[in-house]
Amino acid sequence: MACGRSELELYVHLPFCVRKCRYCDFLSGPQYAKGPYLEALEREIASYGPAAEDFRVRSIFFGGGTPSLLTPQEWEELAGVIRAHYMIDAGAEITAEANPGTLDREKLRCLKELGVNRLSLGLQSVRDEELRLLGRIHSYDDFLRTWEAVGEAGFTNRNVDLMQALPGQNLAECLESVRTVAELGPEHISAYSLIIEEGTPFYELYAGGEGLPSEDTEREMVHETAALLASYGYEHYEISNYARPGRECRHNLGYWTGVPYLGFGMGAASLFGGERRSNCRDYERYVRLAGSREACEDVTEWDRKSQMEEMMFLGLRLVRGVSEETFAGRFGVTMQEVYGPVIERFAGLGLLETREGRLRLTERGMDVSNAVMAEFLLEETDG
Ligand code: SF4
Repeated sequence: MACGRSELELYVHLPFCVRKCRYCDFLSGPQYAKGPYLEALEREIASYGPAAEDFRVRSIFFGGGTPSLLTPQEWEELAGVIRAHYMIDAGAEITAEANPGTLDREKLRCLKELGVNRLSLGLQSVRDEELRLLGRIHSYDDFLRTWEAVGEAGFTNRNVDLMQALPGQNLAECLESVRTVAELGPEHISAYSLIIEEGTPFYELYAGGEGLPSEDTEREMVHETAALLASYGYEHYEISNYARPGRECRHNLGYWTGVPYLGFGMGAASLFGGERRSNCRDYERYVRLAGSREACEDVTEWDRKSQMEEMMFLGLRLVRGVSEETFAGRFGVTMQEVYGPVIERFAGLGLLETREGRLRLTERGMDVSNAVMAEFLLEETDG
């Protein structure tokens, strides 16, 4: 029986990509051989099964990279190992990320049969000029063909990723993508502003900020996106995420609210067994050591202080904020006792507010969310 067991989430990292996008600093690319990696991944997944036998899995997220590059046979093997070693809730949310042009009808059928019930499509823009600039492998027409196939395959829980504040982009161009996607009507839309990451070709070109929309324009894009999506019935529920009512991403909600998770694959992070840890980021090392303790790096105890900090800075990502009652119930002290001065300071600046027993960022607070959240880190003696 599922009831009575604690909840757990699984993340599976599939780093393969057709080629590297020009802005991307994820642990992904075309250089990783699939065979040895998948073997190591399956070994790792199996190895944590016994430790998770008292848990029921409420969501699985296949992220990357481009998980849709796996063949149907590779999907079957991977899903088989997960099912053999974990108890998956009948209603679990199972998401696979996919890029346009890498999904065909056979793969979609296979994913559906394996229980994948949510697809997250990396579109980024409806303007081919912008897609080329980003180094994406697909055009908007490719996306539309994938979108149609996804619908035909019977997927009714779909996310579309958009990227904003692109080099040379103006507000109207940004909103053209938002409106076009909203018209298609996916259940969920993620809209992230481009971040120029060190080590990427974009860093060489745009690190100085030249050629990018100004900070004010970027903020305008974010605000106008929220307003436009609201007019299409999407709720803004997290800094960069919008959903039709009831279609929030369960996996990410779990992550933002402290549900334990096991991350499999190189670089994947876990929050499990009272500690936080990450797998090594080196392919060869991961393939050799996956499933053993030596594959883990950055192991830290998930102590009371970290739990408080995370409840605040992950919870504040959510538009609904953090419940004062939940905080007090979990830690035996009030939010005011631990964070009183910080809360007062930001409330005074109009960046935080308390509504219906929840502390949340105001709209202005959302604009400077990183700076606000950083202040919720505690000294060793606090809490
Ligand atoms: S497809 Fe995604 S993970 Fe792969 S290189 Fe492009 S942005 Fe990065």
